[in-house]
Amino acid sequence: LVGLGLAVSALAVSLVACGSNDSGSGSGSAKKIALLLPESKTTRYEALDRPLFTEALKAACAKCELIYSNADQDASKQQQQAEAALTQGANVLVLDPVDGKAAAAIAASAKGQNVPVVAYDRFIENANYYVSFENEAVGKLQAQTLVDTLKAAGKTSGNIAMINGSPTDPNAADFKKGAHSVLDSSGFKIAAEFDTPDWSPDKAQAWMEGQLSAIKNGLVGVYAANDGTAGGAIAALKGGGVKPLPPVTGQDSELAAIQRIVSGDQAMTIYKAVKPQAEAAAKGAVALANGNKPESTTDKNGVPSTILDPVAVTKANIKDTVVKDNIYKISDICTAA
Ligand code: BGC
Repeated sequence: LVGLGLAVSALAVSLVACGSNDSGSGSGSAKKIALLLPESKTTRYEALDRPLFTEALKAACAKCELIYSNADQDASKQQQQAEAALTQGANVLVLDPVDGKAAAAIAASAKGQNVPVVAYDRFIENANYYVSFENEAVGKLQAQTLVDTLKAAGKTSGNIAMINGSPTDPNAADFKKGAHSVLDSSGFKIAAEFDTPDWSPDKAQAWMEGQLSAIKNGLVGVYAANDGTAGGAIAALKGGGVKPLPPVTGQDSELAAIQRIVSGDQAMTIYKAVKPQAEAAAKGAVALANGNKPESTTDKNGVPSTILDPVAVTKANIKDTVVKDNIYKISDICTAA
């Protein structure tokens, strides 16, 4: 009888422990997670990152609350949004920074309030966790596909225009580095190069228009760092009467870009699977909110990281990538004009 009493009280103790775990530090407890995205001209953020993160957060922690904001490419607006999230009691900031350097200050003020920071897609010094893609590989894949496309068309020399991303985005520097590592020794000449402020498609278009008279002759290809800037470049080339259009690269597998690839206006894009990215970030944020370590596979500058692989998309593998992963249906892509 005494033995049974002991066993029962041991069970009671373990039950109490389970109960307190659930309402306290357990992964099911109510925490506030702030997702701070950088802009909305690039369609991925509102179309994919936001809904997929919302879903992943629900799956990782049914009781957690999401605080969401989008900075529309304005670094000071993002700073205010981060402060507002902290005032609202955010337990973790998941931050995709407009300006990587300015974000270090946001991270410092969060940390001052014991709020961990997940660097989402773009790196932040001293973040607690980083989730992104192999960004130099993105640039290499873009440039290599461009070179392969040119060589397949029998071209081994000529001018390439390079349209990079925003100088405040640390990813843009990685894309550029990866692209240069291929293009610089490709036999083609980088005749003009531009870092696009704010990743603005309009600014990319205006720059391309301004370059046309100087480099139009002998222009064989355009490296554009993402689909927004690619769209701007293609509009400029068409407006300037460049025929046939030279191959243009891109990134993000935006619907408009996939449609341009099908119609032949754009040579390629990059597919970055946002779902596993959003899932890793949501799980990591919940772990941090509960005082646990996020699962990571590597580290970058001392920050535990999960780094995913990008995939090059051309006409040949649209079905095996974005259609297979249910990002788009064939009927989304092939709408009657
Ligand atoms: C992202 C790209 C995006 C670009 C512009 C980069 O940091 O990795 O996917 O196209 O920002 O928002």
